[in-house]
Amino acid sequence: MQKEFLPKETKENIWKVVFEYKAKREKTLAGLGLDPEKFRDEFRKMKEDAFRDMENLRRRAIANLEKNVIKVFEARDVAEAQKILRDLTSADKLVVKAKTSAADEIGVDDVLKEKLVSTDLGDFIMSLAGARDMHPVFPSYHLTPKQISEIIKNKFGSEVAPDAKSIAAFARKYLREKFFEASTGISGANVITADGRIVLLENEGNISLISRVPDKHIIISGWEKIVPTVEDAMKVVRAAAVWGAGQDWPVYVSVISGPSKTADVQNELVIGAQGAKEVYLILLDNGRSKMLKDGPSTTLGTGFEELLYCINCGACLNFCPAYHQLGTKYGDKYLGSKGIILSAFMTEILRAKESGCYSCTLCSACAENCPAKIDLPGMMKKIRTKLNAKNLETDENKKMIGNTREFGNPFGELSEDGTPKELFCC
Ligand code: SF4
Repeated sequence: MQKEFLPKETKENIWKVVFEYKAKREKTLAGLGLDPEKFRDEFRKMKEDAFRDMENLRRRAIANLEKNVIKVFEARDVAEAQKILRDLTSADKLVVKAKTSAADEIGVDDVLKEKLVSTDLGDFIMSLAGARDMHPVFPSYHLTPKQISEIIKNKFGSEVAPDAKSIAAFARKYLREKFFEASTGISGANVITADGRIVLLENEGNISLISRVPDKHIIISGWEKIVPTVEDAMKVVRAAAVWGAGQDWPVYVSVISGPSKTADVQNELVIGAQGAKEVYLILLDNGRSKMLKDGPSTTLGTGFEELLYCINCGACLNFCPAYHQLGTKYGDKYLGSKGIILSAFMTEILRAKESGCYSCTLCSACAENCPAKIDLPGMMKKIRTKLNAKNLETDENKKMIGNTREFGNPFGELSEDGTPKELFCC
């Protein structure tokens, strides 16, 4: 399969941000006095323990959320989630959205089309460009300020100075009206607690507005985000802040416990005060249950549970050599190794091959940088083993195996001076 590499300038823009992120993360860890290994071990243990009791946690979370007047819909797959979303938004003319991978997973753009406005700055820029986010935390980090100014000019005809401050000011002015025009706001969830709270973290303030200003707040999330307590949720916030953006804590952390309410008039409870009047949660499965067992529609085997410990911080992408070459072509609905492995469960195993399974170098940079110590390379090997067993590996791979059997090396017959006649890689 012909691979499409990112242009040199794009790679340089990405590396600049990644190097700055790395330095910031190290400084933050030192400033917090956090031993990263200890934190990662404890964080993983918290996730492992949660999964030992997940069915119970899930039942409790749903019951408590409903008790808190948050209507919960369980969606088995994308089609069900889309139908729920379509029904909930059928009367809406304008919907504002936070940057949320779960919403992208179900194809929120396809459902809401032109009535949807992205409000995270990077996500907003990429929506203007008509392109996919390049990263779950830094969606437009591959673009220079000049390129972003041009995108704005092409879309709105507005001249915006090519600097970060002017671009942010333009977005603030443009988006502010949208928050107040919209009848519905959509966000993901960083964590859901078994006692019925939804935790959202952010720096920009757009999620706070989405969850407070429109009448309706729809949250879309996979069930794997459930943890037992708010204390556990705060560990996720810490991990997401440090490993996601290299900062000690996000600017805003919202703990949503239901629609806004008041009892200020003679103690009579009224739902719908200044914040959202209605809060909905679409709790997504979409292949997640299959990851816990060798389900009937896959034969992928066990040992994939830990992928569900992921908090989508994007740290694994930051140091991934394959992603640095291929960008959004490396992955599927989620980028990188995580996205490739997930694709096998969300669709079928062949999708993992198409989305870059054999481009992975198995270097382990992802696992070393993951706050939950998720063994992405180990899972990638398992997927490859399954593909190989079905004779679905790449032609290059087959050739290397054949050469190794015949000549004792992957490159085949050596020339007289001992150099290989053909050099290639899987
Ligand atoms: S796999 Fe780990 S590093 Fe990658 S996004 Fe998930 S939690 Fe972050």
